[in-house]
Amino acid sequence: MPATSPLELPGYDHVYSGKVRDLYTPIGRDGAPRIGELLLVASDRISAFDHLLDPPIPDKGTVLTQLSLWWFDQLADIVPNHLVSTDVPDAVRGRAILVRRLDMVMVECVARAYLTGGGLGEYTASGAVSGIPLPEGLVDGSELPEPIFTPSTKAPMGQHDEPMTYAEVEALVGPDLASRIRDLTVAILVRGNAIARDRGIILADTKVEFGLTPGGELVLADEVLTPDSSRFWPAEEWEPGHPQSSFDKQFVRDWLTSPESGWDRASGEAPPRLPDEIVAATRSRYVEAYERLTGRRFSA
Ligand code: ATP
Ligand code: MG
Repeated sequence: MPATSPLELPGYDHVYSGKVRDLYTPIGRDGAPRIGELLLVASDRISAFDHLLDPPIPDKGTVLTQLSLWWFDQLADIVPNHLVSTDVPDAVRGRAILVRRLDMVMVECVARAYLTGGGLGEYTASGAVSGIPLPEGLVDGSELPEPIFTPSTKAPMGQHDEPMTYAEVEALVGPDLASRIRDLTVAILVRGNAIARDRGIILADTKVEFGLTPGGELVLADEVLTPDSSRFWPAEEWEPGHPQSSFDKQFVRDWLTSPESGWDRASGEAPPRLPDEIVAATRSRYVEAYERLTGRRFSA
């Protein structure tokens, strides 16, 4: 469960909390819930190595929300999105958006432009990822000949998402929707990299979520091309053959695995509280990612 409990927001009913976001249903003037909409509030919660860390990272939720909004605009000619309004209660202004409540497509839509993480594991074992054969000789961090769709299941909270083959996605949502979400996911990553690379960031891979409106329109939901949903690598440091430093969580992971933290990852115990300087360094990385990409100054 989240370390911070969701806020009490007058006029909104709390309905769900994920790892990072708290979801609320707006209540109309007549007192009835506006069930077609959701308030999506991004918290400052951060996790690493499957543990929720303490304390949260100040401004992280605002950075994620503002970055998603910026990307929604950059992607508007590729895919419609769930945004209704940024006019939200003062208590969550900047970190929350009002969205269309969608019937979510139950697939984690992952695209990879570079090989690492779970994709690298599959490749090493079989020479393929998600059933897509890849050339020989690729190493950790290699750029793929072209971005590939490597979907996974949307596991309930606390469970791990499992890789799915494309045939499994087709069986779950039908061949027409499967090909549309595959093509859109890849197109989002391609557009993302066309923009990000010039600004010194490689988007190695990303996860997006789609939903359907009651009218059957396919819409981009949740967040998009943020450091939480994607692997951000500093372009100037990219060098295949070893794990790349991650743009955002590098300080947190390095500290947690250093002798200084005194934490034994294998123990199953919760990690120790992050020191102030690690929290501050992590916050600056999130802000830097936002500023590099958008060319805007971040103001909380
Ligand atoms: P994941 O790791 O899959 O993102 P999570 O626990 O991080 O899961 P959060 O991002 O914290 O999830 O919470 C957001 C939740 O809101 C997700 O369950 C997502 O599917 C859902 N969601 C996002 N946009 C919409 C929408 N427009 N309509 C309905 N549900 C949505
Ligand atoms: Mg999420």
